[in-house]
Amino acid sequence: MSVKEIHKKVVILGSGPAGLTAAIYASRAQLDPLVIDGPQPGGQLTITTDVENYPGFKNGIMGPVLMDEFREQALRFGTEIINVWIDSVDLGQRPFTLNGKESQDSSEITTVIKADTLIISTGASAKWLGIPGEDPVPEGLGGNGVSACATCDGFFFRGKPIVVVGGGDTAMEEALFLTKFASQVTVIHRRDDFRASKIMADRVKNHEKIDILWNTEVTAIHGTKETGVERISLLNRVTNEASEFETQGVFIAIGHKPNTDLFKGVLDMDDVGYLITEGKTMRTNVAGVFACGDAQDSYYRQAITAAGTGCMAAIDAERFLAERESDVEISTASNW
Ligand SMILES: Cc1cc2nc3c(=O)[nH]c(=O)nc-3n(C[C@H](O)[C@H](O)[C@H](O)COP(=O)(O)OP(=O)(O)OC[C@H]3O[C@@H](n4cnc5c(N)ncnc54)[C@H](O)[C@@H]3O)c2cc1C
Repeated sequence: MSVKEIHKKVVILGSGPAGLTAAIYASRAQLDPLVIDGPQPGGQLTITTDVENYPGFKNGIMGPVLMDEFREQALRFGTEIINVWIDSVDLGQRPFTLNGKESQDSSEITTVIKADTLIISTGASAKWLGIPGEDPVPEGLGGNGVSACATCDGFFFRGKPIVVVGGGDTAMEEALFLTKFASQVTVIHRRDDFRASKIMADRVKNHEKIDILWNTEVTAIHGTKETGVERISLLNRVTNEASEFETQGVFIAIGHKPNTDLFKGVLDMDDVGYLITEGKTMRTNVAGVFACGDAQDSYYRQAITAAGTGCMAAIDAERFLAERESDVEISTASNW
């Protein structure tokens, strides 16, 4: 099979809110950007239902519909979008090289993309339990009672009993936040004490609206498309006793993994793998490479903040190219 070669001034890796916002800005700046879709065209919002906190949609909007709007807006200004899975990158030489294949399982490189600047918007993936009922709708109840984001979905559970699964700081934060909405919050943890910091754990343990089920695993989530979540199956890890527990919402809070393995050893990242950017900019430690969205933000992880940093990355890339072009004019350097 012949290998397709593409060379662009701006290549944007990922088509979630960050990547497509970067594309809107870069295409309106006449930079003719290329967006690479990858495994999840449209990003994480394509696996949820109602999005009620993205400004501009007073009645809310379905996640996949919102991402179609982003995509159409980027295409309208001339963005090119291709669907390949990036398997490896070379950021050591300019232009940068990205090697793409048709799917994660394929071993054959089908597309080689050369990039004068690269915007990384590969997002992060919530860690899931891998149990029946957890898959996104329509296969399961993900986005219909099962969530990995209290800030996004807590509001849907006003006056309802919910459970939070996990024992780290994120689970504690999510549980405390959810007490504002839920009638009762039950934290389910597989061990006999929390991994979270003492102060957060104590707040949860002492909260009047929170119960804790220790040494317990959730083994399945039950419900229907019409009712959402109705109950969960539990297993006590000490007694081996199985039971059922009625609830209307399941928040999985066992952590996130940024999709940044491609850049290990090349770009600066924190212990978990979130890309580190410089000061108020979206610049990484390699000049001409920018990072935005959930791949770079372990803290806010919202569509609006991803879009905001996508805009910033595109402006940074545009300024970088403009400075390089004026340098080249002066020095007539050959590699740009
Ligand atoms: C179920 C759910 C519900 C949510 N609800 C809300 C909500 O109501 N409101 C809200 O503000 N936020 C919500 N969020 C959070 C929000 O979706 C994220 O903050 C946002 O999508 C992050 O955008 P992003 O562009 O950084 O990355 P993502 O949306 O994660 O997009 C990442 C992109 O990178 C691509 N990619 C990754 N690796 C590769 C690779 N190797 N090669 C090529 N491409 C690659 C993927 O295909 C994808 O297109 C929700 C998240 C989930 C999971």
